[in-house]
Amino acid sequence: MQPFAYRKVRDVAAAVDHGAREPNTVFLAGGTDLVQLLQDGIARPDGVVDIGDLPFASIASTIDGFRIGALARLSEVADHPQVRARLPAVAAALDETASPMVRNMATIGGNLLQRTRCLYFRDGVSPCEKRDPGTGCGARRGRDVQAALFGASEACVATDPSDLAVALVALDAEALVVGPSGERSIPIERLHRLPGETPWIETDLAPGEVISAVFVPRDAAGRAQAYTKLRHRASFEWPLVSACVSLAVVDGIIEDARVALGGVAHKPWRAEPAERLLIGRTLDAALAREAGEAATEGARPVAGNAAKIPLLARVVARALADAGGLP
Ligand SMILES: Cc1cc2nc3c(=O)[nH]c(=O)nc-3n(C[C@H](O)[C@H](O)[C@H](O)COP(=O)(O)OP(=O)(O)OC[C@H]3O[C@@H](n4cnc5c(N)ncnc54)[C@H](O)[C@@H]3O)c2cc1C
Ligand code: SF4
Repeated sequence: MQPFAYRKVRDVAAAVDHGAREPNTVFLAGGTDLVQLLQDGIARPDGVVDIGDLPFASIASTIDGFRIGALARLSEVADHPQVRARLPAVAAALDETASPMVRNMATIGGNLLQRTRCLYFRDGVSPCEKRDPGTGCGARRGRDVQAALFGASEACVATDPSDLAVALVALDAEALVVGPSGERSIPIERLHRLPGETPWIETDLAPGEVISAVFVPRDAAGRAQAYTKLRHRASFEWPLVSACVSLAVVDGIIEDARVALGGVAHKPWRAEPAERLLIGRTLDAALAREAGEAATEGARPVAGNAAKIPLLARVVARALADAGGLP
């Protein structure tokens, strides 16, 4: 492990100040991802700022929506009665994340900003443009079922591993951020970047910006919604492919649809062809299957991951069926 300066901060201004002024500084929340990366020498920061004592842990239902603190633990959010009753897709995504022990430690902000599970990135030795710019992409030259189907570049085919981010994109949630220029909000859909030529730049956060909370608009609670995940084993495992759907249904007609896909791109991926197909229609099993097929439009497999395409179609169809209460 490369040595770094550790600081624990007790107020937000100090966290922002360290993050903005000291280059190559990272924030530490629950540590379930970052500590592993530090131990393996994959993250090599000069400074680590422990934000665990900042006042970002509350979960509140307001007139406008739900404010979920960035330091709230995944288990607390999943078990919150309002979340379970009104945002079932969020509860389902969290229930299917990691294991109870990890969920008791891991935080909402950390989950959104966890690094990719690309094996070539995590092994610490393979060429990896994200970990060691200029070395090329090991996954592009290998066979990797995890690799992206959408939005990849020559430089990087990695996928974002977060279950929660997919649910939050389907529910049109925002990240509330505090930084050197004050407060702002970023739609979760735009929080993560596609890899392009700079896969090491993963989000739209500026140096020193810390996520204080996630905001889910009240409208989300009135939408039919479901999260479905396929993975190699039933627990302790990131998504191979996943889908979250949220539908505004009036008199049996779908007036608005958001379909977000996980495990298939460097960020949660909106399946716009599926959304267009659903709007104005009545949901039944045939439409759910048709939308599942539409969600795969534009998929570009690399060596070893084409099997994810039919799985993706099925996972979207299943999520739609669950959201619509169909068998
Ligand atoms: C065995 C295992 C299985 C797992 N399975 C899954 C799974 O199935 N699905 C899934 O989605 N995840 C899974 N995870 C990942 C887990 O959910 C994340 O490790 C966890 O949510 C990260 O949260 P943390 O608080 O520990 O973040 P940390 O490890 O402390 O930080 C992670 C990253 O987020 C940044 N960060 C954290 N909080 C903030 C903030 N408020 N503002 C700005 N930056 C911040 C840190 O700088 C760091 O880069 C698994 C993890 C393990 C260990
Ligand atoms: S896909 Fe991205 S993270 Fe994986 S080896 Fe290639 S550059 Fe690295």
